Amino acid sequence: MPEYETDEPVLYRVEEGVAWITMNRPKFNNAQNSQMTYALDDAFRRAVDDTDVKAIVLGGAGKHFSAGHDIGSPGRDTDVSFERRLMWEDHVGKPGAEFLYTREHEVYLGMCRRWRDIPKPTIAMVQGACVAGGLMLAWVCDLIVASDDAFFQDPVGKMGIPGVEYFAHPFEMPPRIAKEFLLLGDRMPAARAEQFGMVNRVVTRDALKPTVAEMAARLGQRPSLGNWLTKQAVNHVEDLRGKRTGMDAVYHMHHFAHAQNELVSGDRLAGLDAASMAKSNKSESKG
Ligand code: ZN
Repeated sequence: MPEYETDEPVLYRVEEGVAWITMNRPKFNNAQNSQMTYALDDAFRRAVDDTDVKAIVLGGAGKHFSAGHDIGSPGRDTDVSFERRLMWEDHVGKPGAEFLYTREHEVYLGMCRRWRDIPKPTIAMVQGACVAGGLMLAWVCDLIVASDDAFFQDPVGKMGIPGVEYFAHPFEMPPRIAKEFLLLGDRMPAARAEQFGMVNRVVTRDALKPTVAEMAARLGQRPSLGNWLTKQAVNHVEDLRGKRTGMDAVYHMHHFAHAQNELVSGDRLAGLDAASMAKSNKSESKG
């Protein structure tokens, strides 16, 4: 069994109709293991079930929003079974490429889609690194507010993989910028992300929380059903433009690349771990 932290991986509190969900592995820059993923799902469920909650904020404790999927902390738990939330079989014990394909269907693609469809408005509050898997968590939220020290990055091209599992890149940014983002894998500062609308607001670090609190409070004062219908409307149109079907196709390319890595180097991540990714990218993670 992996060595879990004693602290809760996700914190939850409600203040004046707003659920504040906080990823809480600051020691590992909030690297997302399965334990955190299922705790996030529990927290979102709790916020949905509470009729007093009108808006949801997703943030990360510490310096960074999220360094991405856990590929190197002591709490890495890819081989552990959890009670699944979607209609797949357990990935544990599956042979060959089926193991990762099944797992990522559940914990990455499936969960992200589930959270995108939460019937209450969501805001990602992003500071510091928002890397690889971290992008997916910010992108599933309806609004993104970033501090001016925030940066976005998808370095998985280094592993020969065409981007993270929730392939929203060409919807979150213009296609040519998405190509640059993926092909070069550089950090994108929040200010640049704001220029083409990937981020709603960029504020100072001190203003981050108050700005998000003010927006969440305003969302909470608006009609709940209207909020739900509005996000469904935009999500639906994105899907008509091909977001869902595109993501389905690219998910399979992603897994072809994982399988190729395994065949060529014996490692699904092409021999790269958190430390080597951090060294080569000046960031911390991905999986
Ligand atoms: Zn993957």
